[in-house]
Order: sequence, then structure tokens, then C-alpha cells
Amino acid sequence: MKKKTFIAALFCCLVPLLSGATEVPTPDPLLKLQGSASATLKVFDLPGSIVAAIEDQPGRMPAALFRSIDPNKRVRLPNSFPSSINVFLVKNKKNGKHFLIDAGFGRPSSRLLPDLKAAGISPEMISGILITHIHPDHVGGLTRPDGKAAFPQAKVFIARKEYEAWKNDPNRAGLAKHLTPCRNDLVLFDFGREIPGTGLTPLFYPGHTPGHTVFDLKTGPKGERVTFAGDIVHAADLQIKAYDFCARFDMEPRTAVESRKKLLERGGCWFGAHISFPGRARIVRRTTDSGAAFFSYTVK
Ligand SMILES: [Zn+2]
Repeated sequence: MKKKTFIAALFCCLVPLLSGATEVPTPDPLLKLQGSASATLKVFDLPGSIVAAIEDQPGRMPAALFRSIDPNKRVRLPNSFPSSINVFLVKNKKNGKHFLIDAGFGRPSSRLLPDLKAAGISPEMISGILITHIHPDHVGGLTRPDGKAAFPQAKVFIARKEYEAWKNDPNRAGLAKHLTPCRNDLVLFDFGREIPGTGLTPLFYPGHTPGHTVFDLKTGPKGERVTFAGDIVHAADLQIKAYDFCARFDMEPRTAVESRKKLLERGGCWFGAHISFPGRARIVRRTTDSGAAFFSYTVK
């Protein structure tokens, strides 16, 4: 090989290595689904990650489920509020790995597995499942009807605090069946440290359950993020404005209200498990003339 040709060949080999050969080639197949007509799958292209919202189950939340922690508060509510059970797929653009935020209900009508299949993602391609809390609409989809793990290659990440609370409460023993097939793949985490390879950092927002977790997904070098808010709200149309209202599923209502207010004060963009599909809400903070904060949201 002539010297010039050799140097050119060497350059061609080195450039991909130097520029990060692990980068996912573009366009990613998931991005081809952006703007697709699917009623239960929506793809968002974010810096560093691709997020796909999947509506595992549709639904509405009856107003009768909600009550203010202020016993004197009387508000006329509509009969029900729009809601969903959403699961979020997060694909890390750098390492190409797929993660789920929660696993949905695992009902015969659940959309998680068929929608992943339609997106070209098999259960074996899921590297990890990050659980916001141990309720059946979030962990039911971890198991298949035959009792085996639905995502056989996935580590299942759960807050140590949530897991211990579940483990030590006999009333929650019924949920054991969802976690048992994954017990060898359980990874218990503490809050505030990024789960390696995911870009996701778990944060402690209790009240709905003792270890209820939200996950920040890093989307830029200067603290930019989106937040997977779990069950911080069940009816966004009610509870973002009137955050003192709890669904009866909130185990510790006063703590749940504190957590909700705290997350609202942080603002930003949320993906919520029960915010109506595709589950995205951008929080808007305003103040009254007297300086009190109040919140609303947009879906843009
Ligand atoms: Zn839920």
C-alpha cells in the first residue's frame, strides 16, 4: 500500500473511534415512528435519549376517588377526569440500551408488549426496568401469564425503601407474585445517584407509597432534564391546580401533598404514569397578587 493510501485508510479507521463509535447510528428506527398514527404509542426525540410513551391501558379517574386533605374544602368537581396508565420506554442514544419506566398492568388488553413489538423491540432487548413504586398497575407487567419474567434480560431497579416497606407488610404479600420471577435480577437503589448507563437519577417523593420514586432523565450538560413523575398525580386536570387533593390510593396523604407541591415547585417537563396519554405535561408556575404560588400545565 502506498504511504498516502495507508494514511488515508488509517484516518478512516480512527475517525469513528475518536468520535465515539458507540453512538447509535441515525436515524434510529424508533424515530421513524415519530408522527405515526398509533393511538397508544408516541415517540419523543430528546437530547441524549429517545422516549416512547405507551398507553398500556386507557381510562378515566372518577371524581369520587379524590378528596382534599383540608376537610373544610368543598369544591364541585366534574364526574371524572381524563387519565391513562402509561409506560415509558427510554432508549439511551449513547449505548443503545432500552429501559422501561414501570411495566404496566400486564392484563390481556395491555398495550405494552404489542406496542414494543410494533416498534421493533423484543422483550429480550429491554436491559432494565425502573420501578416508581410497587402497585399492580406498575409491576403487573413484569410477569407473563405463565408466571415467567416478561423481560428475561432485564434488571429490575426498585428503591430499597419501597422494597423494604413492601417486604415487611403482610398486606402487600399479594404483590409478591409480580416480583418473584425477577427476584434474581432485582437491584435495590438508594436515592440521588444516577443508575449507571441509563441517564436516570431516582429521587425520593413519598406519600403515594413509602418509597415512591420519580426519575430525572438528564437531557443536557447544564442540569437540563425531564422528570418521570410516577403517581405524583392521578388526575392532572385536578391535582396540578388543586395539589391538596389526593386520590384514595395515596397511602400517606399529607406526605403525598408535600411531595406533589415540591415537584411542582421544581417545574419543568413531566412524563406521568397517569397523565392522560401521551402523559407529558410542562408545568407552569404563577403567583397571585398576594404572592401565593399556583400551577397549571401545558401539553406542548
Ligand atoms: Zn398507578
